[in-house]
Amino acid sequence: MTQLTSRRRFRLQRRSLVAGLGGLAALGPIRLARAAGNPKVVVIGAGVAGLSASKTLSAEGVDHVVIEASERIGGRIYTESTTFGTPCDVGAHWLHNGETNPLVPFARRSGIDVYEAGEVEGLFAGGKWLEGDAEEEIWDEVDDAESAINRAVDRDRDVSLRSVMDSDTSPLAAFLVGAYEHAASVGSLSTIDWDRQEEGTDMFHDGALGSLAAAWGAEVPVQFNTAATRVDWSSRGVKVQTSSGTIEADAVIVTVPTSVLAKGAIKFGPDLPQETARAISDLPLGSYNHIVLQMTGNLFEVEEDTMLCYAGNGGTAGLLVNAGGSGLTYFDVAGDFGAKLTRQGEGAMVEFARAALRDMLGAEGLTSLTKAKAFPWEANPLAGGAYTAARPGRARARERLKRPVADRLFFAGEATSISKPATLDGAIAEGARAARVAADEVT
Ligand SMILES: Cc1cc2nc3c(=O)[nH]c(=O)nc-3n(C[C@H](O)[C@H](O)[C@H](O)COP(=O)(O)OP(=O)(O)OC[C@H]3O[C@@H](n4cnc5c(N)ncnc54)[C@H](O)[C@@H]3O)c2cc1C
Repeated sequence: MTQLTSRRRFRLQRRSLVAGLGGLAALGPIRLARAAGNPKVVVIGAGVAGLSASKTLSAEGVDHVVIEASERIGGRIYTESTTFGTPCDVGAHWLHNGETNPLVPFARRSGIDVYEAGEVEGLFAGGKWLEGDAEEEIWDEVDDAESAINRAVDRDRDVSLRSVMDSDTSPLAAFLVGAYEHAASVGSLSTIDWDRQEEGTDMFHDGALGSLAAAWGAEVPVQFNTAATRVDWSSRGVKVQTSSGTIEADAVIVTVPTSVLAKGAIKFGPDLPQETARAISDLPLGSYNHIVLQMTGNLFEVEEDTMLCYAGNGGTAGLLVNAGGSGLTYFDVAGDFGAKLTRQGEGAMVEFARAALRDMLGAEGLTSLTKAKAFPWEANPLAGGAYTAARPGRARARERLKRPVADRLFFAGEATSISKPATLDGAIAEGARAARVAADEVT
C-alpha cells in the first residue's frame, strides 16, 4: 500500500546500510503455558491485532488465551526466505503512519534502519515512460479525482469514488487514486471511508517486516493449530469451540479477517446481531497481491526503493524496485484487475509481470529476471484477501463492527480502525482498544 496524496516525487533521505532483520531466527510454535481453570478472555487470531490485544491484557493482569488457526503468528504480515534465498515480505512491507506506528521504534531498537519513503517517480503507459505534459496530465487527473471526492465528502455523500470522478479518468490515474493504496477499485470504494484514512508519514526499512512483527510478538504465548469454529454466547460468558476442544471464558476478542467471518468460518450461537453481521459483510477484503521479481543488475536505472507505476496489457501495477536493497522488486496488482488476474492463478500473474517487464525494459528485462513468484492472499482461507475497504454507502460499518456485543463479544483488527484501516498500526491500536474494553468488563 502507498500513500499518494501529493504529486511530490522526491527522495527525502538516503541512509546508511545496516543489517536487516532477515537473519532473525524463524519463530517456532510456542506451547501455551497457563494456570489451570478457565481464562477470563479468549483472543481469536494471532495477527498483530491479536498479539496487541494479548500484550494489553497481560499489562492489565487479565488471564487470557490466544488461539491461532495456523502454525505461526503474524497473519497478513509474514516474511518467507526460502523462495529467493533472501527475506521476502509476502504481506505488509510498508510502515505507514510512522509517527504513531509502534513497529517503527521497535525496528530502530532492533537495529533496523527506518527511513521516510519517497513517492511514485515514474509512470509507464501506452508503451512508453511518460514525460513532461503526458506525465503531468496523469497527476492532474489524480488531483481532479481527489478534489471531486473531497467535494462529495464535504456534502456528506457516501458514494463510490467512480461515481464522482470524471468518466474519462485514465486507468492509471484511477489505479493511483484507488486500488494501489486501497486494494479495491474506484467503483468499490466509499468516498467517506477513503477520506477518513489518515495521511501519516510512510516509512521504508532495510529489514524484513514480517520478521520484525514476529519478533515484536514473540513474547505472546499462543496456542497454534487451533481454529475457532463456533462461539456460543447464549448464556453467561462464552464457549469457544475450537479444533482442539472448547474453551470457556467471560469474553472473546475476535480478530479474524472479515472476509473469513463473512464465509461463516466461525459460527455464532445465537447469530450475531444484524448490525454486526451487516458490518462484516460491508467490509470485504480487497485484492492486493505481490508478484515478487528477483532481478540482476539495475535495468530500471533507479535507486533502491523507487516506486513506479505501469499500465499496459489490459492491466495496471505498482512497482517497488529493489526494496530495501534486497534485490527483490515487488510488482503489485490490485483491485478489480488484480482480483481477476489472481483468479487465473499464479502462472497468469507471473506472466503479466513478465509481459510488463518486456514492455518497460525490452527483451533484456526478461533476461535479468532470475526468479518470480506470486503470493495470492485470496487463496489463503485464513485471510480471504488483502485488507478491508468499506462498500460505497457503508462507511459507518467500521463503527458498527467495533461496538461490543452483549458486553462479551469484541471485534478488533484493521477492519475496525476508522482512521487507519488496512494498516498494521491500525490493527495494533484496535487490538489494544478491544482488550482495554474487555478488561473493564471482566475485572
Ligand atoms: C499483500 C498485502 C500487503 C499489505 N501491505 C501493507 C503495508 O505495506 N503496510 C501496512 O501497514 N499494512 C499492509 N497490509 C495490511 C496488513 O497486513 C493488515 O492490516 C494487518 O496485518 C492485519 O492484522 P490483523 O491482526 O487485523 O489481521 P490478520 O493479520 O489477518 O490476523 C488474523 C489472524 O487470525 C487467524 N485466524 C483466521 N481464522 C481463524 C480461526 N477460525 N481461528 C483462529 N485463528 C484464525 C489468522 O491465521 C491470522 O493469524 C498488507 C496486507 C497484504 C495482504
